Amino acid sequence: MQEWQIVLPEKKHKKKFFGNLLEEVIKPAICSHCTACAAICPVKGITAGDRPIDFPNWLKDCVDCGACVKVCPRWDYRPLGGVGSYIEMFSARSKRFLGQDGAMVTEFTATALEEGIVERAIFVARDEEWRTRTVSIIDPEQLKNRKITGTKYSFADVLPAVKEAVLDSKAVAFVGTPCMISALRKMQRSFRKFERVKLAIGLFCTENFYHSQLSEFLAKKGVAMKDVLKTDIKKGKFIVKKADGEITFPVKELDGIIPPGCKVCQDFSAVEADVSVGSVGSEAGFSTVLVRSDIAKRIADAIRARGYAEFRDASLEAVKKLCDYKVKIHPYPPKKEG
Ligand SMILES: Cc1cc2nc3c(=O)[nH]c(=O)nc-3n(C[C@H](O)[C@H](O)[C@H](O)COP(=O)(O)OP(=O)(O)OC[C@H]3O[C@@H](n4cnc5c(N)ncnc54)[C@H](O)[C@@H]3O)c2cc1C
Repeated sequence: MQEWQIVLPEKKHKKKFFGNLLEEVIKPAICSHCTACAAICPVKGITAGDRPIDFPNWLKDCVDCGACVKVCPRWDYRPLGGVGSYIEMFSARSKRFLGQDGAMVTEFTATALEEGIVERAIFVARDEEWRTRTVSIIDPEQLKNRKITGTKYSFADVLPAVKEAVLDSKAVAFVGTPCMISALRKMQRSFRKFERVKLAIGLFCTENFYHSQLSEFLAKKGVAMKDVLKTDIKKGKFIVKKADGEITFPVKELDGIIPPGCKVCQDFSAVEADVSVGSVGSEAGFSTVLVRSDIAKRIADAIRARGYAEFRDASLEAVKKLCDYKVKIHPYPPKKEG
């Protein structure tokens, strides 16, 4: 295999490859918005951001290389699910960083940087309006910034940033939702450069949102994004923390703005990650951690040895319950309406 050369996938339509992606993934509304296609497109024609994936001039500009189809986790889609295999599972809280839950995503990244296991990590930060932007972390001190840690319930162009990172650095970490982790594995199978991703940290995930739709929804509830300090989904409730109090409503109310691509996803626990992290299965202020690969185990052992985190038992039952629930509520192929 050459560095950037691939075996072409089989076309299902007599169109350029992006036309195939359009027919098989985008039009049937199973696209996860993982942004792998936008990352890999050699002419940078595929657009992501806060809108559905598109390639405005594909008829003319698509060079028909097949890379977008090759890396798409929804091409020939076979949903993954369950808790997956893991070496160890625990609940923990970083003693050094503050994050969404126990800041264990941040702790894993900081320790990986300090141990020289990775040179840089791609994180998702936010601006005042909670719009996402990717940042490249090379120094654990950057992780003290609370706009860099913590969950943003909006899509982010993570994989294009990962692509830039692997061009520059030999050992990269990144944090992503389960669809991004599956896309990364496909990228690694086709393009050697992505073997430079040494640590893929997966987040537990039920759904994500377009920023514009979420902020419009919250505006109707009287919440301006710039006043939000933290958002969270816990026990079926969406929680918005502001300086002057908290508003809570059932996640069900967001049904109308859950992107259709999330509604066919059954992977709650990011089964293909090196380490998966979420809140389900732990008490408040702690993260549930599933260590899946040897590299993640090395990092977990270093965190323990250095006393960087407080450890407890996590509830496997609680994680299993959410994994099963996601399969149940997101059937694939999707049930026909009516
Ligand atoms: C869209 C979404 C839905 C989620 N749903 C659930 C759920 O249903 N149940 C559950 O238990 N956990 C869920 N999580 C995970 C949970 O919210 C926490 O991120 C997780 O527990 C890790 O907490 P922490 O304190 O260890 O992370 P921190 O140390 O605070 O680090 C958080 C990391 O998440 C990254 N990140 C934030 N937003 C995004 C984003 N939009 N896309 C990619 N990366 C991002 C940041 O770069 C940062 O690295 C979800 C996360 C996301 C992004």
